[in-house]
Order: sequence, then structure tokens, then C-alpha cells
Amino acid sequence: MPGRTGPRYPSGVPRGQQLCYSDAYARSVEARVLAVDTEPSPAIVLDSTVFYPGGGGQPPDTGTITRSADGATWPVRSARKVEGDIVHELDPAAARPTGALPAVGEVVTAEIDWPRRHLLMRTHTALHVLCGVVWRDYGAQVTGGNMEPGSGRMDFEFERMSGELVGEIEAKVNAELAAGRDVRVRVLPRDEAFAIPDLIRTKINLLPPGIAEVRTVEIVGLDLQADGGTHVANTREVGSIRVTGYESKGRSNKRIRIELAGGEVAGA
Ligand SMILES: [Zn+2]
Repeated sequence: MPGRTGPRYPSGVPRGQQLCYSDAYARSVEARVLAVDTEPSPAIVLDSTVFYPGGGGQPPDTGTITRSADGATWPVRSARKVEGDIVHELDPAAARPTGALPAVGEVVTAEIDWPRRHLLMRTHTALHVLCGVVWRDYGAQVTGGNMEPGSGRMDFEFERMSGELVGEIEAKVNAELAAGRDVRVRVLPRDEAFAIPDLIRTKINLLPPGIAEVRTVEIVGLDLQADGGTHVANTREVGSIRVTGYESKGRSNKRIRIELAGGEVAGA
């Protein structure tokens, strides 16, 4: 990457702590600047961050980076993973004139847009509950999905799916959300993860061959998936959902759209 300053580490070895994977409720962290890119657009790597870089259908976080010395603040418009690092993408307009970026070694606070992130956590957990219900009660596998804050879609190999089933699925998902199931995140050695039948069903075999560990997200008693995303700690925190659409994308490929209908206010 041109314009990069600061030390480089072997490809794929992340610099710094990536708190989003271990503590989804961490909103901000004090950190030191490890690297600064200016081209093609301003971007920063920190030795610790709370930003989620996107993946698994969950969009990256937005937020701010604030320099401790003088309170100067840069909006973070997105984040992404590059060779294992979480790179914070700054708004180019905020980085002008040249030299207005934080420097390597400076202390900053990284803070995510928490209401947006919390909405994404609730949405992501709701989609896993949908997956769990559709597998348990209809035997249909998920083939893909995507989300925005407050709404999302999942595609299933679900030949028997019909418009009439939509109401039934919605009621079942809401019953599971109200049941107050805990959501557990674990990191397992690869061999252990590959021995779990539920994980094989969710296409764990598509994971890159080189990885040594698999992060799993379990909706206790309902669903277990290999997943890198951020989730709420209990399904009750999601509130309830509405199924807002159903589309047939072919004989067996069916798409279900949901949105959050209520629940705890972000930050409560
Ligand atoms: Zn997921």
C-alpha cells in the first residue's frame, strides 16, 4: 500500500487487539496509532480497536477517532480487514490539509457509533434465530444472507417454502426471541470445530484451509454457526421481528426478509 508509515508485520498477522470479536459491547478504547496510510485515501491501524471490519453479511462499523493530546476528531466512515489488520477508513475531507492526520505513536480514542452497532447486533442475532428455526422445523439450509441496521435477508434451500409459511415462521422466530436464549461466542481449535455436526451443516468446510481456529456463535439450544460477527448476549435483547418479504429465487432457493419490530432501546 503506498503512503504507509509504521512497521509491517508478516502478512495475515494482525497488529493490535481486535476487541469486536471478544467483547461486542465494547464501545470505545484508548489506543496507539501503529500505521497511517494517505493513499488512496486516509486510513489508520491502531494497537487496539473496537471497530468491526465487516464480514458474514454484517457491515463495518462507523464512528470516530479522537486524539488525546488536543481532542482533534476524525470521522471513521468504514473499516475493513487488510492482511489481518483492522484498517479504519477516515473521511478524506477531514484529513485535509495534508498533515492533518494523527501520527504514528500518538494516543487516540477509537469509538464506534454505538446505536448503529447495537442495532446491527440485534439484527444479526435475529437472523441466526431465523436460521435456527428454519433448519430445526423445516430442515432447510441457509445459503446466504445480508443485513443493514434493523433489517436483513436470508436465502435458504427451501423447496417447500411458500407465502403461507411466512406467518408461521415469524411467530416461531418471535417465540424463540422471547424465550430469552443466551448467545455464546467461543473460539475453538479447527479440529474440534470440524467435529461438530451443526457446524458442518452451515458450510464450515468453506472456511479457508489455513485457519487454526474457528469462532462460533451459539444461540443456546437453537443454533450454532461459525461466525465472525457481533451479537447481543441474549435473544430477549433483540425484541421481536416482522417478516417483511418472501421471494422465490428459483425452484429451491427462497429469500426471507425481516425487520426488527421492537425491543430495548440502544444503550439502555
Ligand atoms: Zn452471522
